[in-house]
Order: sequence, then structure tokens, then C-alpha cells
Amino acid sequence: MDLKSVMEADVAVIGGGATGIFTALDLTLRGLSVIVIEKGSLLSGTSGKFHGLLHSGARYAVDDKQAAKECREESKTLARMAPFAIVSRGGFFVHLKGEQDRYIDTFVNALAQCGISFEKIEVASLLKVEPQLTKEVDFAVKVDDMVLDPFRFFYSAATYAKRKGAKFLLRNRVSELNPSGKVIKTDKGDVKAKIVVNATGPWAAKLLRASGKEIELMPALGIMLVYERKLVHSVINRLRAPSDGDIIVPFYERSILGTTAQLVEDLDKIEISEDDIKLLQEQGAQLIPSISDLQYSRLYFSARPLVRGSDPRETTRDFQVIDDDWIISVIGGKLTTSRLMAESVSDLVCEKLGLKAESQTKSLRLSSAFESTPVKGSIAEEVYEPGMSLALAEEKISS
Ligand SMILES: Cc1cc2nc3c(=O)[nH]c(=O)nc-3n(C[C@H](O)[C@H](O)[C@H](O)COP(=O)(O)OP(=O)(O)OC[C@H]3O[C@@H](n4cnc5c(N)ncnc54)[C@H](O)[C@@H]3O)c2cc1C
Repeated sequence: MDLKSVMEADVAVIGGGATGIFTALDLTLRGLSVIVIEKGSLLSGTSGKFHGLLHSGARYAVDDKQAAKECREESKTLARMAPFAIVSRGGFFVHLKGEQDRYIDTFVNALAQCGISFEKIEVASLLKVEPQLTKEVDFAVKVDDMVLDPFRFFYSAATYAKRKGAKFLLRNRVSELNPSGKVIKTDKGDVKAKIVVNATGPWAAKLLRASGKEIELMPALGIMLVYERKLVHSVINRLRAPSDGDIIVPFYERSILGTTAQLVEDLDKIEISEDDIKLLQEQGAQLIPSISDLQYSRLYFSARPLVRGSDPRETTRDFQVIDDDWIISVIGGKLTTSRLMAESVSDLVCEKLGLKAESQTKSLRLSSAFESTPVKGSIAEEVYEPGMSLALAEEKISS
């Protein structure tokens, strides 16, 4: 679609990932006119290529308490909002013999400090429900980790936002932001908006750089391997400081092993090294020994939009909202906390526009935009099992 004349809205949201979709939904429900501009299809960035985990917060409890508490609350909120997009329940943190015993106490204390519910599990009963797990487990706790199908969740959210008036300009790249004229230059024409929300995730710094601005962002690449069988029934996390290859997520009839964390210079020129794949396989086999005899069927990868810190593993998973007058950028966070990120950005937008309106997304209940599970088409088809046509859903959403 070419924009024959300049399009106008109160707010232009750049990026159709989890954060952009939630921001469009939040602002639309507060009564503002919103246009989402996305260079690819919805979820073509990190949100359609994440690991699938709706975090209980346990993973961040030791070193990143604010992020852990946000995940604890938001995972419950998203599960209530769209139960049809939650594909499994429960997770275990398992400690292996020979690893630092001290970390067990640190971890369990941190869960308690963060108010994250957990239950100690007898290893024998764990191995009954997860028979493929290594017999090297010597301690385990159960937490409320869940698995979220991003396509079912966010296409349903976008469909609802559209029904409430949001516009979606897909396959339309923003090349430049012009604060003086309040104009957003896109491949298909200009868009005018009173405020711009930069929700381009790991591309947030690149977009601003094209307009002469800088932010502190650290895109960190992660790769995931897909196995064509159900190796586990619940999410299995290794009980140790976050590291490579220490989470296995059951996704419908498949299993996803991940992930790695490496800084990337150019997001659009990513190369995957054989060593990283090998590392993932070796680490995965320490949890599920049969992985060493299995061939993965697919590999996919994406980049985290991390707030800049010393190291991609150690920097916070909390988010930042950066106010630069006409442009508000939102970076960091997790898919699990994307609703909260959007609420925070939307509060600032409303404050700037002098609008007194509360966010309504926390108590929202979505209905599914799809009849069957899982969703078919685009990346979903690559990574996840096909179900209904995503192309059809996209056609309905494109404005
Ligand atoms: C390997 C990996 C595994 C992860 N696993 C988990 C997990 O299990 N659980 C969890 O909660 N979180 C996880 N995360 C984090 C989570 O996926 C991200 O924090 C979240 O998806 C970011 O969403 P976003 O909307 O901010 O960015 P994105 O989803 O990347 O959306 C940004 C969008 O902006 C678009 N865009 C960029 N530039 C332009 C432009 N110039 N014009 C128009 N559009 C543009 C892109 O195409 C993209 O669609 C993981 C991240 C990685 C990398």
C-alpha cells in the first residue's frame, strides 16, 4: 500500500513486536489514534523468534530482582489475558551433581525474597514425570514457568487493537525521524504524529542513529535449536547462574533448546558459528542425554534489545523508557514484561499530550483470532507447528 497522502495520528508506534503491539493496544484503549509502522510482518523481529518462555521470574531472582518481580506479576497477567495462547504449564529448576552446591541456597533464598512461589521436589518423583532428564539431578524445585505461543497471543492482541481503531502499516520501513516537522519518513510515504514511540527492540539504536541520535543499547544474539519430539513436558531450567544452553522448552509436540548470548555489531548481518551450535548441543545433552544422539530439525535466532551493561549475561533484563521530547524509546525487558513496558510508555505519552486516562490492559481478556492451534505461516511455520494461515490474519490486520 502506498500512502497517497500524508497519514496522521496522535501517536506513531514504530515496530510491530510484542512491545509495539501492546503500546498500540494500550494507547488505543485510552482513546488516542495510533498507527503502527512495521518494516516486515508482525512479530518478524525478536518477538516471533524468542524461546517461548513466560517467565515466573525465577531465572532472574538471584541477580536481577526488579526484573524477576516484574516477570512474576506479568506472567500471571498475560496468562489470564489469553489462556488460549499458553501451551503448557510449570517449570523445574534442576541442579546437577558436581555443580556448585552453594548456588542452591542462594537461589532458593532469592526466590523467597522476590516472592516467587516454588516447591522443592523429590528427584525420584521428578524423574517419573520427566523420564528423559539426566539421572545426575540431585536437587529440584518446581516454579510457575509457562510457555506462550507468540503468534496466537500477539495476533489476537493486534486484531483487538485494530477493532478498537489502531492502524497497522506493515512491510513499511521507517528510514528517518524528523522532530522539527514531526514527520516520520517511511518507504511508502510520510506519516505525521504528535508523538513517536520507538519500539523497534534491538533496532532501536540503529533507527535513532539514522536521525542523528544515540541511545545505550546492547543487542545480544541468541540461538535456539528445535527438536521434532517432546523431550520434556515442562520447562526445564538448569539451576546455576544463567549460562548457555540451560533451558529446554516444550512447544506443542516439539522441544526448543536455547540459548546463547553474544554481542552483535550489525543486526542485519548475523553469522552463526558451528562452535555455538556445538556448545548448545553439549550443554543440552547434560540435561537430556538423548540430545547427543538427536539431530535438530531447525535452528533460529534473534537479538535481545538489552540496556547497555558490562556483559550480555549480566546486564539487567529490566527495561528503560527514554524520553527525547517527540521520540520516546523503549528498550530492554522481556517478552514476558512487554505489557508493563507498554503501560509505562503509554503513561508518558498521555502525560505529554495532557490526557488523563488510565491503562486498561492489565485486566483485559482477549479472545483468540485463530480457530486452530498452532498458527500457520511465516516464522511460526519455521519454528512452530502450522495451524491456521498467518497470511490471512495479516491481511485482516493491514490497514
Ligand atoms: C534468543 C532469545 C530468546 C528469548 N527468550 C525469551 C523468553 O523465553 N521469554 C521472554 O519473556 N523473553 C525472551 N526473550 C526476550 C524477548 O524476546 C524480547 O525482549 C522481546 O521479544 C522484544 O520485543 P520488542 O517488541 O521490543 O522487539 P521486536 O520483537 O524485535 O520488535 C521490533 C520490531 O521493529 C521492527 N523494526 C525495526 N526497525 C524498523 C524500522 N526502521 N521501521 C519499521 N519497523 C522496524 C522489526 O521488524 C521488529 O518487528 C528472548 C530474546 C532472545 C534474543
